[in-house]
Amino acid sequence: MLTTNENRAAGRPYRASFYTLGCRLNQAETSLISNNFKNKGYEVVDYGQATDLCVINTCTVTEQADAKCRQLVRQVLKRSPEAFVAVVGCYAQMGAEELAGIEGVDLILGTEDKMQVADFIDVPQKLPEPLIRRSKIKNTPFTISSVGNYEHATRANLKVQDGCDFMCTFCIIPFARGRARSRAFWDIQREAVQLVERGHKELVLSGVNIGTYEHEGKALLDVIRMLETIEGLDRIRISSIEPTTIPEALVHHMAESEKLCNHFHIPLQHGHDGVLMKMRRLYSVKEYVQFLELVNELIPDVCLGTDVMVGFPGESDLEFEATRQLLADLPFAYFHVFPFSERFGTPAVKMAGKVNPKTKKARSRVLRQLSQRKKLEFNRRFLGQRASVLFEERNEAGRHQGFTGNYVKVAATTERDLTNQFVDVELRGIGEDGLVDAWVVGFG
Ligand code: SF4
Repeated sequence: MLTTNENRAAGRPYRASFYTLGCRLNQAETSLISNNFKNKGYEVVDYGQATDLCVINTCTVTEQADAKCRQLVRQVLKRSPEAFVAVVGCYAQMGAEELAGIEGVDLILGTEDKMQVADFIDVPQKLPEPLIRRSKIKNTPFTISSVGNYEHATRANLKVQDGCDFMCTFCIIPFARGRARSRAFWDIQREAVQLVERGHKELVLSGVNIGTYEHEGKALLDVIRMLETIEGLDRIRISSIEPTTIPEALVHHMAESEKLCNHFHIPLQHGHDGVLMKMRRLYSVKEYVQFLELVNELIPDVCLGTDVMVGFPGESDLEFEATRQLLADLPFAYFHVFPFSERFGTPAVKMAGKVNPKTKKARSRVLRQLSQRKKLEFNRRFLGQRASVLFEERNEAGRHQGFTGNYVKVAATTERDLTNQFVDVELRGIGEDGLVDAWVVGFG
């Protein structure tokens, strides 16, 4: 493996590697950025290999995320001291000064500039001082002149929206990513067609608050209907979507659609009305429950996931228990648990009743264990049934993994290469790795 300087001396193409922290939207953006470097003639190499340039797409959703970003930047600088290091994204937007204090960082780009990172670097030559750019974040519709580069992935993320206007009191995202804005309808179609031409059979719609999508009178359901007409695209999956932004028509459409996966991830955040109000969430527990029941009734095999926060300021034992009970009662297949993290500049920082870290940890543990149990229960419901699975690459243990439309993760052991194929399977049992054992019964 050539070092950066040896690679330059050999006159070989520059190598670029990428690391993504945080959400699915960041993953979508990194793949678009990586494609731009590819188009500029760079060889894209896996993170951790010798490289001439490393782009780190960061997250700032919690204090831990910030710390992880800094740790990663240091790791890259240690591993590839001659490589050009660009740090972009949410933490670059909010914590540029802290990042600039790390010796060796060359470029820091905030939210508005990050998608153009390839244009900022002519030759990946280290700079004496970091160049910092944090332009004002626009709130107008946008286009992206790229197509996601997902070399090893079956599913591809498709960015449809960015930013958020909801201003939940704990959340830094409206500051880090700006106000809600939507991608031009025709530009979504253009990238989707290109992703399908590259062999992707499933697209995951990504954004910060995708239910608020609006472009020239078109809403998210119009985006889905348009994508359904693309030949060769077999599955469309909605990533996280806010509870108050899902029209009933979308639920009915999911119930009937052949291509839209039966899967909703709807952040609940808390199971007590008082806390939801302090969080400035836009629904009550009753409204959330009614909506979830409607979804479950219309789509009996739907996979329902959620996000939940523990340790919000003032959260009492009783309020936590209300959340735990609600999560246990509702037909969730899984949930992601986030301990409250103080984000400078958000209203929640000034709220009374800080919950101590030990309590937060204990509450997180209780909910994570509950989530594991719910997932097992959900998976068990389908044992003995047949399903169509889109398989991904073989894992280290020689097992092919993949997902059903309703997000049951299965694994099959077979000589045949199942990568990126729809395969009819029978769901047999739960394997030692916790995945559902699948028995191949046909190729769909
Ligand atoms: S809906 Fe609330 S939690 Fe989600 S990004 Fe917007 S402000 Fe943050």
